[in-house]
Amino acid sequence: MAYIINESCINCGACGGSCPVDAIFQGDSQYEINPDTCIDCGACADTCPVAAIVAS
Ligand code: SF4
Ligand code: SF4
Repeated sequence: MAYIINESCINCGACGGSCPVDAIFQGDSQYEINPDTCIDCGACADTCPVAAIVAS
């Protein structure tokens, strides 16, 4: 289980610095979360203005 970023992402970058384990990166078309690194803390979800970050 890990948090994911869905297609609502507008590439604003706000979530980028919020992850304590640096699991968030800018992918080809939107930001993404590395599921192998994410520790499910939920810190990133509160930073997203369009609620694109959700628990999977
Ligand atoms: Fe990083 Fe926590 Fe978000 Fe996972 S839930 S991507 S560990 S901030
Ligand atoms: Fe995308 Fe939300 Fe992150 Fe902005 S904060 S880059 S909209 S996931």
